[in-house]
Amino acid sequence: VTADLVVVGAGVVGLTAALAWARRHPDTRIAVLEKERAAGAHASGRNSGVLHAGFYYSADSLKARFSRDGCAAWKAWCAARDLPVNACGKLVVARSEADLPALDDLLDRGARNGVEVHEVDEAEARAIDPRARTVERALWSPATASIDPEAIMARLAEEARDARIDLRLDTPFLGATREPFGWRVHTGAGDLEAGFVLNAAGLHADRVAQAMGFGASYRILPFKGLYLVGDVPEDWLRVHVYPVPDLAVPFLGVHFTVKVDGRVTIGPTALPALGREQYSGLHGFAPLEAASIALRQAGMAVRDARFRRLAVREAPKVLKGALARRATPLVHDLDPARFRTWGRPGIRAQLLDTRTDALVMDFVLERDEASLHVLNAVSPAFTCALPFAEHLADRIDTTNR
Ligand SMILES: Cc1cc2nc3c(=O)[nH]c(=O)nc-3n(C[C@H](O)[C@H](O)[C@H](O)COP(=O)(O)OP(=O)(O)OC[C@H]3O[C@@H](n4cnc5c(N)ncnc54)[C@H](O)[C@@H]3O)c2cc1C
Repeated sequence: VTADLVVVGAGVVGLTAALAWARRHPDTRIAVLEKERAAGAHASGRNSGVLHAGFYYSADSLKARFSRDGCAAWKAWCAARDLPVNACGKLVVARSEADLPALDDLLDRGARNGVEVHEVDEAEARAIDPRARTVERALWSPATASIDPEAIMARLAEEARDARIDLRLDTPFLGATREPFGWRVHTGAGDLEAGFVLNAAGLHADRVAQAMGFGASYRILPFKGLYLVGDVPEDWLRVHVYPVPDLAVPFLGVHFTVKVDGRVTIGPTALPALGREQYSGLHGFAPLEAASIALRQAGMAVRDARFRRLAVREAPKVLKGALARRATPLVHDLDPARFRTWGRPGIRAQLLDTRTDALVMDFVLERDEASLHVLNAVSPAFTCALPFAEHLADRIDTTNR
């Protein structure tokens, strides 16, 4: 075979998994196929850059365990490489009394997940950040932090090359045929023989899986995240300020993020997008794909009240004013005129279970003896990536080939 392990996708999931495997088996040949000219061109380089502490997710989920461990692991990883971390912490605030039961659920989840969270009253919240506004109480997470995702992706690509991983940029996966040795992988630059294939193709993970006979019950629905970047003085906000989320949908609500360099953003939206890579205007817009996504979204809007609520809530946020207004209840003295510049948007690869028309909340893996498919690497997969990579490496098997 040309490579013992072929990874599809040089996002954070693909690269960390390839590196974890290389560390365990320094003598195996690993190739990573990436259709773009650089690693991290999609979600891994276009996200909020928040290391989540792990209190949002139910205790039995992979996300809960991997965010708690991943948050700590990335801090150590960045420190060892002199990459910046802003260990600012996060307040989850209540906009009204109606938010309090869900806030208490989060405090409970934090305790159950082994994550440090504190209940603070209004005065304590103000002492943590004078700009934060809450009703009665808030959740304080000291472990939540910010990192620089683009710097991390560049460093991962460098370390992959140092580990003699064959990082093939500009090389799209086109399909694969099962062979006795594993898979014959067809790429835009010819075929290669793979003992084992790891599918970490993010927004296209369902297509790669389906081309290999997996993921039949799933479909990726793209959700666009838009940000507004603040023109505010340094220290305008010290900590991340998030609303209490609707725990029935896999998004955290429009919030304030303090970036690694202290800049402040409002966002991201969770707008149904009309293309998997349709970041702005008509770029990335494919009429057939858009029609198929729109049909599916319309079907969901008819059948699923939660999706309908989400669509109604998200649609007006394409307007700057409406997006900034969403964030108004979270802080004191927000001047929307200071948040007028769009930041770099990202698109979430949210998995839909076509049997139930439900958005899938946790990571989903499918596998056979020669391939493993990561079907739902949704947020916070960046935070989760280091321990998740070990979990994936436990399930890769290149023996007997
Ligand atoms: C707006 C937004 C905000 C977010 N905020 C956070 C956050 O604050 N904290 C957090 O932890 N997570 C966050 N996330 C989630 C996190 O960014 C993603 O879960 C994570 O980056 C997914 O990584 P990935 O490697 O699976 O996907 P990707 O980064 O999308 O990588 C997949 C790669 O596969 C390549 N590929 C696809 N198809 C093919 C093919 N056929 N051939 C070759 N290559 C292919 C793509 O080009 C891409 O580079 C956010 C995501 C978004 C969109």
